[in-house]
Amino acid sequence: MLNLLIENINHDGEGIARNKGKVVFIPFTIVGEQVNVEIVEDKKYYSRGILKEIVTKSSHRIEAKCPYYYNCGGCSYQHMAYQMQTSLKQKIVQNTFKRIGGIDFEVKELIGMQKPWNYRNKVTWHLVEEQKSIKMGFYRMRSNILIDIQQCTLLKPVLNEVSHIIREMIHELKIGEKSSIMIRHSNDLNKVMIEFINCIPGKNLLKKLSGKAHSIYLQQRGSLKLLFGEKGLTQRTGHSMFILGPHDFFQINPEQNEKLIHLVCQYLDLSGTEKVLDAYCGVGTFSINIARDAFRVLGIDSNLQAINNAIVGSCEHVLVNLKTRFNRIIVDPPRAGLKEAFIRSILSVCPKIIVYISCNPSTLARDIKQFILNDYKLIDIQPLDMFPQTSNIENIVLLQKI
Ligand code: SAH
Repeated sequence: MLNLLIENINHDGEGIARNKGKVVFIPFTIVGEQVNVEIVEDKKYYSRGILKEIVTKSSHRIEAKCPYYYNCGGCSYQHMAYQMQTSLKQKIVQNTFKRIGGIDFEVKELIGMQKPWNYRNKVTWHLVEEQKSIKMGFYRMRSNILIDIQQCTLLKPVLNEVSHIIREMIHELKIGEKSSIMIRHSNDLNKVMIEFINCIPGKNLLKKLSGKAHSIYLQQRGSLKLLFGEKGLTQRTGHSMFILGPHDFFQINPEQNEKLIHLVCQYLDLSGTEKVLDAYCGVGTFSINIARDAFRVLGIDSNLQAINNAIVGSCEHVLVNLKTRFNRIIVDPPRAGLKEAFIRSILSVCPKIIVYISCNPSTLARDIKQFILNDYKLIDIQPLDMFPQTSNIENIVLLQKI
């Protein structure tokens, strides 16, 4: 057993300590705590430890609300008071910009939630059959052990209710390889969309679910079939309505998404004459909400199902071939961030304002550095808590052409 001091927190929310110079990652710890640790993994450059005892406890430590917290792996900040989580995330963004982008910039205070629980509008449960009984839950972090979970404190109550019905009638499910169930909530209907993936629900279960479900899909060997109800699920966001299919991206925290859209509109500073490009537009949450304030908005997304009046294709290929000039560009890429060639295409279009929305501070810092090197001025880095209780951080960055 080692006695170590927690000096920092990494991107996965694990505490960082040093043992004779070597970095040790210890989940569920807080900066300043002195802890007893058992090393469970010893690599060349780092080790991983399990918290065995807290010798000096942080004043920010609280009881985790969820009984599965230390087992589940979905959350990593439940042992910290919310105030601590928000200031920590702000600090992590600040440090990441410095370390990866070489950018020393005052990051704004994180926009948090009043009630940072029961916010998720979508869940995917995994299923496995073990000794003739079916487990339904989440995989433990960095493992293939499935933890059976009855309730999740991050989910909207309706999602827990529907999950409970499925669990009660789990014997009605025919399980295959890599089975899972996706449930998505509509804030417009207060009903859900359910997708059974590689598992088939029996008639009684379907009947029971039909009271709460707006649509039920079955996905097997890559093909999708509607078993019950309507094809799409309506979702109200900003001043617009969206119709979602089971595979369309939509922010999982609707309350924070409203704040995000509001901020993007504000940053775009539209007067009605601008041409706006919404790259990685998804179903168009930004495009549609800004359409009435701009002269023209064009969206690009590679997911054909998600979009109606946007261009289908990868941003990297589409923008270089477009002849249009844009005064504003929004980018909201997946975690990997922007490809270098796409950054060059954006630079050649020369928009006055770029708004970059990102769920990965590291790739964000790397990309923002490129814009700064090419005559863009960093105006704001605004973190927003899209995923309270977890270590994920969403950021909105405003850049202006010098
Ligand atoms: N801005 C939207 C969606 C962001 S999620 C919203 O806020 O709801 C990221 C989106 O990028 C997804 O819709 C995905 O289909 C799309 N995508 C991923 N890689 C892409 C690429 N190379 N080119 C275009 N779109 C891509």
